[in-house]
Amino acid sequence: MTWTTLPKMPESGESTPQLLNLDHAAMQTGFSWDAARAELAGLPNGGLNIAFEAVDRWVAAGFASRTALRWLGKNGERREFSYADLAGLSNRFANLLERLGVVPGDRICVLTGRIPELYIAALGTLKAGAVFCPLFSAFGPEPVRVRLVKSQARVLVTTTLLYERKVRAQCDELPDLRQILLTDLLADGDDATGLLPFHEQLMMESAERGPPATRPEDMALLHFTSGTTGTPKGAVHVHNAVIAHRLTGRLALDVRLGDIYWCTADPGWVTGVSYGIIAPLANGATLVVDEAEFDARRWYAILEQEQVNVWYTAPTAIRMLMKAGAVALQGRDLGALRFMASVGEPLNPEAVIWSREVLGQPFHDTWWQTETGAIMIANTPGLAIRPGSMGQPLPGIEAAIVRRRTDGGVDILASDTEGELALRVGWPSLFRDYLGDSDRYQRCFAGDWYLSGDLARRDADGYFWFVGRADDVIKTAGHLIGPFEVESALLEHPAVAEVGMIGKPDEFAGQIIKAFVALKPGYEPNDGLRKELIGFARTRLGPAVAPRELEFMVDLPKTRSGKILRRLLRARELDLPLGDLSTLEGDAAES
Ligand code: ATP
Ligand code: MG
Repeated sequence: MTWTTLPKMPESGESTPQLLNLDHAAMQTGFSWDAARAELAGLPNGGLNIAFEAVDRWVAAGFASRTALRWLGKNGERREFSYADLAGLSNRFANLLERLGVVPGDRICVLTGRIPELYIAALGTLKAGAVFCPLFSAFGPEPVRVRLVKSQARVLVTTTLLYERKVRAQCDELPDLRQILLTDLLADGDDATGLLPFHEQLMMESAERGPPATRPEDMALLHFTSGTTGTPKGAVHVHNAVIAHRLTGRLALDVRLGDIYWCTADPGWVTGVSYGIIAPLANGATLVVDEAEFDARRWYAILEQEQVNVWYTAPTAIRMLMKAGAVALQGRDLGALRFMASVGEPLNPEAVIWSREVLGQPFHDTWWQTETGAIMIANTPGLAIRPGSMGQPLPGIEAAIVRRRTDGGVDILASDTEGELALRVGWPSLFRDYLGDSDRYQRCFAGDWYLSGDLARRDADGYFWFVGRADDVIKTAGHLIGPFEVESALLEHPAVAEVGMIGKPDEFAGQIIKAFVALKPGYEPNDGLRKELIGFARTRLGPAVAPRELEFMVDLPKTRSGKILRRLLRARELDLPLGDLSTLEGDAAES
């Protein structure tokens, strides 16, 4: 079957859409989460469902024929799905899950690239009251197995190739996994193995379905963290999170009804779901989804040709765009672009300055974590950017810099003091558990503060500045140094494309800083350049903070979500155990 043969959903009565009337300034002062909740459509008897808020509310509001999803295939295909299409297809998927015996709370894992079936499965899973758990398609068999076991996956949606390569051999170890829906299987299914053809099964179902029966605190999403600091944790989120998804999409990313919106993050990670699916749809935008991998020219072409208004990406991609140079942009008109934002790693000041110069507008840094479910701190559209700062807490978010006390409490620190970034609990998208590790979950809290594990400081004007992850900070000659500041200084040098810094034990200083540097094309790694870079850092940072050692690398090790893995640089340098490599980018993790 082809997508074009899908039956069209009828347009519903063209009632006046419930437009979201959020005035930024008013939100800062008169904010309440109850008011944000009241902006949602909701369900009878106090029910709430993420997929209903993302899709069906817009159908009911008269936007049935608007494009919800515009899919760009890696081989040049192009498919459009209206809000009505997505509503009908996700209804079918929810009906299918029920026929397969799935009950609310069951986990449905999806292991595919960025293809339309992923989006249909995600929304349908939520409608059925089951839990959507995305798995990044480039994971090797072992990380896939670990996640299928940990999540106790009941149904898996994948492709034949991914099934053969990564799942088949381990099916015996997955007693909870009863059916596997293959998106490209056209023949009949096989009841013995549970392998079923996704499309055929979907088309056997009705596109009609009553409103979802989910409650606000029902489990909705299971997201594994990136594994930057150790073994990935499975963070549990509930339907209530959609209140924060919609609100932050509007306030931090400026997504407006009818916008064309592109989030480059893969839905295998939290950003690709919270802001690659839910937040933009819950604000009535059109999602652009590109199946292909990063390519600077392709990306600029998409921004121009699709007339993207809002673009959400990551520092790792921005660094690659910077590396590709302005030549990749030549001849492109990005006139439709109104807002650009970044998340995942610190956004170095150099990247903000570059984007202003080359793209004509700045990237806006946003800070959040898998655990927080939604953006917490951001450079919102109305806020003057201080390059290098993460911005300020959003309405409804109280952030503080704290120090843990030995009695389990925390002290709140004054401005301009470095400490741990903490958030006062009470926002709806905060995770509700680490699946199977409630003790660890409990340890994230001190009283009513959630402790992020990131170090930061707040300036006197209320801007937050990222210092580093608690694990990556080093102590040298009495100074506490976060990698961000050292790395940002080196990035200002025209030869430097990427840099990661670690602490190395030293007899006199306690630790010294060693920097690992990847160069831009056209620069040769040699002793002269090494000395030049160390000297460059010394003039900017002073001798106490500048790296003492510097090593060139072709590429720095990164997680599959694009974060520099300093713990791996450290382990290799100091001959320590390498630790969990399940999310390492590249061949090492493919085994
Ligand atoms: P793990 O928890 O498994 O070690 P992870 O923390 O990288 O992995 P995520 O939840 O994907 O997993 O990432 C959140 C972290 O990413 C934050 O705690 C922070 O360290 C970093 N981060 C995200 N956005 C920013 C930002 N704007 N500036 C600085 N750091 C950021
Ligand atoms: Mg983390």
